[in-house]
Amino acid sequence: MEMIKPEKFLAKLSDRYYVNDSRRFLLTKFELVSPRVIEFLAGQYLSLKVSEEGVRRSYSFATTPDVKHGFTLLSEIIPDGLGSKYLLDLPMGGEIEALAPLGKFVIGDEAKLLFVATGSGIVPIYSMITDLLLNKHEKRPIRLHWGMRRESDVFWFDNLERLAENNENFVFDLVLSQANEEWSLCSGHVQDCLSRDFEHEDMSFWGAYVCGNSKMVGEVKTLLREMGVSEENFHYEKFTEEEG
Ligand SMILES: Cc1cc2nc3c(=O)[nH]c(=O)nc-3n(C[C@H](O)[C@H](O)[C@H](O)COP(=O)(O)OP(=O)(O)OC[C@H]3O[C@@H](n4cnc5c(N)ncnc54)[C@H](O)[C@@H]3O)c2cc1C
Repeated sequence: MEMIKPEKFLAKLSDRYYVNDSRRFLLTKFELVSPRVIEFLAGQYLSLKVSEEGVRRSYSFATTPDVKHGFTLLSEIIPDGLGSKYLLDLPMGGEIEALAPLGKFVIGDEAKLLFVATGSGIVPIYSMITDLLLNKHEKRPIRLHWGMRRESDVFWFDNLERLAENNENFVFDLVLSQANEEWSLCSGHVQDCLSRDFEHEDMSFWGAYVCGNSKMVGEVKTLLREMGVSEENFHYEKFTEEEG
């Protein structure tokens, strides 16, 4: 796959809101100032300058590549986090400087596609799945396991459900690690549900696309490799550094 050369972008904040009442996840929309058009592949990210000293934070594109005049980011708000504070304090119309597109977390040519996300790790995966189903009319089987703590943290649920209703090749499972008693679907860690749902499946045909914190990515990799996903068919993006 040919990768697009990264370049510097200036863009203006055009909208900002929390995606649900938990106030943990902030959506920010930007309109390009220069250049006027952006090219990227679903799954890629930008590097945002978040301080005068030049400290940077990475954010995946939540939008799909057909939207070229601007982009949307979805960020988890970390108390006292530098990037979080920058995105919260930026005035409407305020200008940002970013470098994009970056990253190799993009769709390959495996026969079946398995996506696994936790928390805001859904962002690049949401862009990939939306691009596959709405823009590319993808017919390969697509599964998504998305792990969140509580139902009240979840966002984009209706959009994902609608995609699943309208595309019989797409199946979406929400996994809650702190589910309440009424929750009848999968609970625990995404790993628990993967083991259960793919117990009888030949995983050698599947490409796995995994995004979230480094601990989850490592554990899912070990599990999926044991289940038969090959090294070259395992793709990931880690949102946090290795611990320890
Ligand atoms: C390729 C790539 C793409 C990314 N895309 C996204 C994205 O689309 N959306 C998104 O929200 N994030 C994304 N991230 C993570 C993002 O870049 C930041 O690292 C993260 O949002 C925290 O930034 P911050 O500056 O607000 O906090 P920081 O100033 O980095 O952190 C402040 C403190 O909080 C701790 N901390 C950091 N992250 C967490 C966490 N998740 N939970 C608890 N404590 C934490 C740190 O260890 C530190 O002690 C991406 C990371 C990478 C590498």
